[in-house]
Amino acid sequence: MADVRTLPDAETAPEAPPSPTHATIRREDYRPPDWLVPEIALNFTLGIERTRVQSKLSVMRNPAASGGALLRLNGDDLKPLGVWVDGQTSDAWEMDGGDLVVTLDGDAHEVAIETEINPAANSKLMGLYASNGMLCTQCEAEGFRRITFFPDRPDVLSKYRVRMEADEAKFPILLTNGNPIATGKLDGGLHWAEWEDPFPKPSYLFALVAGDLKANRDSFTTMSGRKVDLAIWVREADLPKTQHAMGSLKASMDWDERVYGREYDLDLFNIVAVSDFNMGAMENKGLNIFNSAYVLADPDTATDVDFDNISRVVAHEYFHNWSGDRVTCRDWFQLSLKEGFTVFRDQGFSADMGSAAVKRIEDVRILRMVQFPEDSGPLAHPVRPDSYIEISNFYTATVYNKGAELIRMFRTVLGPEKFRAGTDLYFERHDGQAATCDDFVKSLEDASGVDLSAFKIWYSQAGTPQIGARLDYDPDAGTATLLLDQRVAPTPGQPSKQTMPIPLRTALIGEESGTEIAPEQLVMVDGLSREVQFEGLKEAPLLSINRGFSAPVVIHGSRRDGELERLAQTDTDPFARYEAMQELAFTALLDGARGEQPDFEPLIRAVRNTLQSNELDPAFKAEAILLPQEAVVAERLEVVDPDAIHAAREQLRAALGMALFDELSKAQSAVSGSGADLSPLAKGTRRLRTVSLGLIAGGNPAEGARLAKAQFDAADNMTDRQGALGILVSLDGPERADALKAFHDRFENDPLVIDKWFALQAAAQRPGTLDEVERLASHPAFTIQNPNRLRALGGSFGANHWVFNDASGRGYRFLADLVIAADKINPQIAARLVPPLGRWRRFEPKRSELMREQLERVANSRGLSRDVYEQASKSLV
Ligand code: ZN
Repeated sequence: MADVRTLPDAETAPEAPPSPTHATIRREDYRPPDWLVPEIALNFTLGIERTRVQSKLSVMRNPAASGGALLRLNGDDLKPLGVWVDGQTSDAWEMDGGDLVVTLDGDAHEVAIETEINPAANSKLMGLYASNGMLCTQCEAEGFRRITFFPDRPDVLSKYRVRMEADEAKFPILLTNGNPIATGKLDGGLHWAEWEDPFPKPSYLFALVAGDLKANRDSFTTMSGRKVDLAIWVREADLPKTQHAMGSLKASMDWDERVYGREYDLDLFNIVAVSDFNMGAMENKGLNIFNSAYVLADPDTATDVDFDNISRVVAHEYFHNWSGDRVTCRDWFQLSLKEGFTVFRDQGFSADMGSAAVKRIEDVRILRMVQFPEDSGPLAHPVRPDSYIEISNFYTATVYNKGAELIRMFRTVLGPEKFRAGTDLYFERHDGQAATCDDFVKSLEDASGVDLSAFKIWYSQAGTPQIGARLDYDPDAGTATLLLDQRVAPTPGQPSKQTMPIPLRTALIGEESGTEIAPEQLVMVDGLSREVQFEGLKEAPLLSINRGFSAPVVIHGSRRDGELERLAQTDTDPFARYEAMQELAFTALLDGARGEQPDFEPLIRAVRNTLQSNELDPAFKAEAILLPQEAVVAERLEVVDPDAIHAAREQLRAALGMALFDELSKAQSAVSGSGADLSPLAKGTRRLRTVSLGLIAGGNPAEGARLAKAQFDAADNMTDRQGALGILVSLDGPERADALKAFHDRFENDPLVIDKWFALQAAAQRPGTLDEVERLASHPAFTIQNPNRLRALGGSFGANHWVFNDASGRGYRFLADLVIAADKINPQIAARLVPPLGRWRRFEPKRSELMREQLERVANSRGLSRDVYEQASKSLV
């Protein structure tokens, strides 16, 4: 029997010590705001280096709060040029840190403030900043306080009226939330526009854009027959690359009506693409602002994955209009209320637009690659965190992706109809409000009549549950007993854990017949252990468990020889079938990494079967034969030796590549449609082509290089081209340098493609990569000012398990240097580079020590931001 229960305990460390300068914010300290701001009027006099902001707030005491006379207006890096109360200059105010605190004696006042900011100097890209000659904003989570003084918290909702004035030649387009109500021209080449947003919103949803932009315009007629004008704003030269985003937007609007009954509510929906952006995109009411990477695409410069990401992110931000904007969050601890739910919604959209099975596999792959390590490391936190130092650090895979898994479990337990009734009630009940995760669950409960209280622990308890599963079969009696148990390892601040309700879609597959001999049922593990009996079995049963990945857990199954191989061939659930393939690969990889001689044959046979199957589509085949990433293998080992893991994976690739050369070559040369064909079949064929190429290169590097170069040269699309180059960068020989140069020279003027050029090289699996990455950091096209470029090099390098964890420690030093340098420019992005350095506890002693040293160097560097301080200090304990 192969027992794969190999996972070590997570770090059992306590929480990080408090910082003298960076305060911890706690969920339990939440108090309603003392003052409300029903209305705000903003007047911007815009300039790249100087923007004047006049703000007029109508404030009233919150009847639901017990607060006093002090109105606290948050500010970050702002100086008030003047403060007026009810039209009179006031000096009844003082600064408290960055905040402006005004003393008011009545219950309702008008408070006016003037500030001046320098968008060109704003390298943090939070608040109002300059990018490529345009002006734009990013206010979530706490960026509005860098524009003007305001109660910058999501439970203060205001109606916005905004006037913008600017040089018409430089900024012909002026946009903000809501609808335009008036425009005009002034002397000196100036023009102005006034807009109004009828929907009260928190400050984090405010947005403004000014620049020389052109629109791809279209329209959508809503289910009640209202025509909505749609526009995607980009620089003129990029207009031809906006078609896919526009198609995705219309498909999203239609899908949200059909699947959630949600209709768009303004007459106008704008999207703007910006090339300097901290995250993927932002759901500002009526004016979504996007990282250009999630808007611009054509087949020559964007891969199929890029196209899919654009659809996903466009949908995600659009869906926020209801799950985020119409119903927002009471406080930032509730972030998953909008993000987990909205990720769940965009996953459903993508599943409906393509193959649901493949989409599920992709989502779980990401979850395992990013969220599982987070959940077992020093930065582990619950889906609804209890405390933070810097909220930007909590836009995590746990809040987003595990949060989405939680919503999926609710739907699994309730069934689709009751779940939909629940979301209908949630939107109706909390429309216009700032709600909590508890409010969401309550709506599901009230609409369905189902008690979900036991599930709430998924919001508060961190860590990935580990499930032991064993099926005992009694052939004489024709019965089987399924024995399940659960365990959650300690996480920082949570030394002991409670049991969790774990819904496992489970079936039995007949070993001979390959059919379901016990139909699928939902097995709930809600205590430490659980037993399930099966009767009337006429053949040996194979356990098909956590089908569709119904719970975000790790299953440690005891499997007989041959069991996984048979399941990989027959399981009636596509996800479980994929899972059997993965487990087969894991068995070989873990044996190899532990220095045992693995048996490659079962996986070779399973991959051959998969490739030769007439019933499976190419996209599924590609996922099924893709070997687990080294970092994911590392997660399953007690002590990580990256060289051993790498060697084991290379050995397995070689074995597969040699044994299956003919089958892989056939898949690598298969063609379906042109490079512009985005049908699932064409995309799947391309994906399988490059995955096959990777295995061929593993078995025969010289032949792999030849084939890859041929694929590269012949490519009429970026998917094949990038796929080939991604193989070539890890190989030696002349093809590598030739292809890299050709790629660079051809796309030199396309920043999104040059990002790929950096990322591919930083991900290369060869010993020279360290030198190369250091060289790339001083390449003229490299800059830490641009988040996409910084991520392309630093993010990809940190994810390159084998090279980053080089025994010399050079990789650690390089990343630490990058973090320290980037922190002075853009703390949010710098902090996102830290997590790979926090894995030191898992590694063999030499690397562990070297990694820790670099982490300490980061934590001790002077003038550290809150962002990096939090990530580095929490990673040290
Ligand atoms: Zn979101």
